[in-house]
Amino acid sequence: MGYLIEYAKSDRSTCKGPKKGCVSENHTIAKGSLRLGVETDINGTNRVTWRHWLCTTPKVLANMREAMTEPEEIHGFDTLKDEDQERIRAAWSEGELPQDEEAEGKGSQGEEEEAASSKDTESSKKDDK
Ligand SMILES: [Zn+2]
Repeated sequence: MGYLIEYAKSDRSTCKGPKKGCVSENHTIAKGSLRLGVETDINGTNRVTWRHWLCTTPKVLANMREAMTEPEEIHGFDTLKDEDQERIRAAWSEGELPQDEEAEGKGSQGEEEEAASSKDTESSKKDDK
C-alpha cells in the first residue's frame, strides 16, 4: 500500500473522502487541486483512490504515519510547491488538517467563527455560489 500526492491532472477523479465536509459539492476533484492517492492492491491489481488533500481525515493521516516515517516518503511529495509541502508536513505532525484550511480561498485566517462547530452534525455549509 502506498501513497501519492499530486496536483490533479484532470478533473475526472472523484474524492473518496468523507461525503460530508468535502470541499467539492459533487465530490469531483478539480484539475490542479492537491489530491492524495491511496494505493491498494485488490487481487493483484493496483488501484488508486483519490481524495482532496483537504478531505484527508485524521484516520488517513494516522495510517500514513504508520506506513511511513516522514511525509517526504509520499510519492510525488518532492514535486509539490514548497508551500504545499509545508501544509502536508504540518498536517502530518499535527495528525489532522488545520481547520481553516477547509475554508479555501479565504485570505484571512482567524479563529473566530469557531462558535457553533458541532462537527459531527451538519457543519458542512457548502459554498453558496
Ligand atoms: Zn473531497
